[in-house]
Amino acid sequence: MKIYAIETGKVKITKRWRVGQGAGIRRLLNTFLDNEYTEWLPIYVWVVEHPEGLMVIDTGIPADANKRIWFPPYMPLIQRAAKFDMTPEQEVGPQLKKLGFLPNEVRWVLLTHLHQDHDGGLHHFPQAEFIVSRQEWVAAGGFGGRMNGYLNQRWPDWFQPSLIDFDTIPLGLFPTHHTLTQAGDVHLVPTPGHSPGHLSVIVRDGEQSIFFAGDASYTEELLITDKADGVGPDIQAQHKTHRRILAYAKENPTIYLPSHDPEAKARLENRTILTLPFQASVGEKSH
Ligand SMILES: [Zn+2]
Repeated sequence: MKIYAIETGKVKITKRWRVGQGAGIRRLLNTFLDNEYTEWLPIYVWVVEHPEGLMVIDTGIPADANKRIWFPPYMPLIQRAAKFDMTPEQEVGPQLKKLGFLPNEVRWVLLTHLHQDHDGGLHHFPQAEFIVSRQEWVAAGGFGGRMNGYLNQRWPDWFQPSLIDFDTIPLGLFPTHHTLTQAGDVHLVPTPGHSPGHLSVIVRDGEQSIFFAGDASYTEELLITDKADGVGPDIQAQHKTHRRILAYAKENPTIYLPSHDPEAKARLENRTILTLPFQASVGEKSH
């Protein structure tokens, strides 16, 4: 299966956003008031040429996000703590065309979650079927969603995704999953923690599993070392999600692709399998 990485721009966040410190409200203040920033990190969108239809995973961010007015005035701390760098040509629509695809050829747009650097390119796909977990949709909607950092006022009027209720059949340590394709080779699994209804996409390509992780961890290293980020509302859920992913990777040759991991594109191109540095314990023990 052909799979492409599209870098829709770059983001830089505070170091305590990438790896959180403290608990509760102090953790959020540490994240937003930190004066140290990461290097510029990619914002990846993934394109899967599946025989049943073209699939796009996440949509990146629009060039407008460079402008201060893109974020509403009640979000000054987010503006301070996350900086973006991108041009209109880097948006997902133009880049898809460069790869030789038309946006209206896309059958599915799978959204790992509804943060602004993942749902910022919806307008490029007016004809696709959007897939979101019901839990994420509920968390992101309305005034409550806006207060929790979702920019739902930026969604196109016509945005009405298909909502996924995971069935009750486990997949490895994931308690539930949803199979998207007739061929049974694309699975959505719940990976909450970074956001309440975060999902990851597993594409089985022969013996290999390509694991599109969204922000379940920002990098592969942070997965292996089980570090929770500084913005997720549920730290324990992040740790549990990490252990479930590692358990999956222990059983299945897995190429692990987070959205903001500078190494992810090379891992996809070289089909580099996630290897655990030692026999990491990946059970369901409490953290
Ligand atoms: Zn996110």
